[in-house]
Amino acid sequence: MPPSPHAANEPLVPLPEDASEPRLPTKEELKKKEEKELMEEFSGEIVWFNAIGFVILHVLFFIGGVRCLGTITTLYPLTQWKTMFWAFFVGFLSAEGVLMGAHRLYSHKAFKANWKLRALLLFWHTVAGQNCMYIWVRDHRLHHKFSDTNADPHNARRGFWYSHVGWLAMKKHPLIKIKGLTIDMSDIERDPLLMFQKNHYKKLYVLCAIFLPVIVPIYFFDEYWLDALLTVYFTRSIIVLNLTWTVNSAAHLWGTKPYDKNIMPRENKWVGMWAFGEGWHNYHHAFPWDYRAAELAVHHSWTTQLIEFFARIGWAYDLKFASDQMIHRRIQRTGDGTDIHGFHTTKKECHDHIEEAEPHPDESVKANNNHIVSNGSARHRA
Ligand SMILES: [Zn+2]
Ligand SMILES: [Zn+2]
Repeated sequence: MPPSPHAANEPLVPLPEDASEPRLPTKEELKKKEEKELMEEFSGEIVWFNAIGFVILHVLFFIGGVRCLGTITTLYPLTQWKTMFWAFFVGFLSAEGVLMGAHRLYSHKAFKANWKLRALLLFWHTVAGQNCMYIWVRDHRLHHKFSDTNADPHNARRGFWYSHVGWLAMKKHPLIKIKGLTIDMSDIERDPLLMFQKNHYKKLYVLCAIFLPVIVPIYFFDEYWLDALLTVYFTRSIIVLNLTWTVNSAAHLWGTKPYDKNIMPRENKWVGMWAFGEGWHNYHHAFPWDYRAAELAVHHSWTTQLIEFFARIGWAYDLKFASDQMIHRRIQRTGDGTDIHGFHTTKKECHDHIEEAEPHPDESVKANNNHIVSNGSARHRA
């Protein structure tokens, strides 16, 4: 039987009515998929090497702390007072290497610094031993860009312990690596000092975080080497680490949201007090480029005072901060209604010497026209 003249043009099996050509997903569909991936629940595996390492570090911190307590309570004096003061001094400066250097200067470009201050902050940051500046800044910029999602290295939606220390002892969510590639690090890569620290970090860590701080009490105070090591390295660095971590954990979980109720970071006075002024975290996430990292004078901050000191001697300049109008507009638009000004009505008086820029119509654009002024003239340093 000859084939029908229509057979070549007719499908042998009729296509189902809903069949369609494969197509690329629309922008809307891609956005929804990405949002789902960023927010869906995830539990990573524990990296046992890191977890056991952190346990050992904390045990040694505890032993060092107990030996210091023996001296403080005079029950069994072991560690010398001079060694404890030295540990406090090293701890404070190393914390400022992180808070003033890695956080406000390099992660957020909240002010500029001359080469002397940049070198000093880099040294203090290496003493703190919180990984190289490049990795610290990349993780922190990622934290701000994808706050409290799976692309945030210390996503606080996964609870207190994960955002405090667990993120360093667990396998990273794959999105952290993927979204990490979207972070612009060109400014850090252009800085030869920062790249030197990155390329020689292990050697610099042994020298700056362990050897130099520990050798001082042994050589100058005739301290027993074990007490010098426990107090000035283990106890000091673990205290500073935990103070830094509370900003990622407690200040994302407990407190008020006077500036933006739509984000997780909060104003937490305990963290503010112990982390040298970094606990006013709702404000900080609303205005990350503000060198004060807080609005009010009562939000006491050693870091802010230190930046202002360096501005007075000309080592820091172009300090950025949000104007009062900008802050009030934000409070009215997105705040949770917490009356932060009702109780604390006075602004920080030492800000009188700062020339305030006109508020920018777009709050997301950095107010980068502010200068520290001294004797009536704007001060700039290259
Ligand atoms: Zn945060
Ligand atoms: Zn920040």
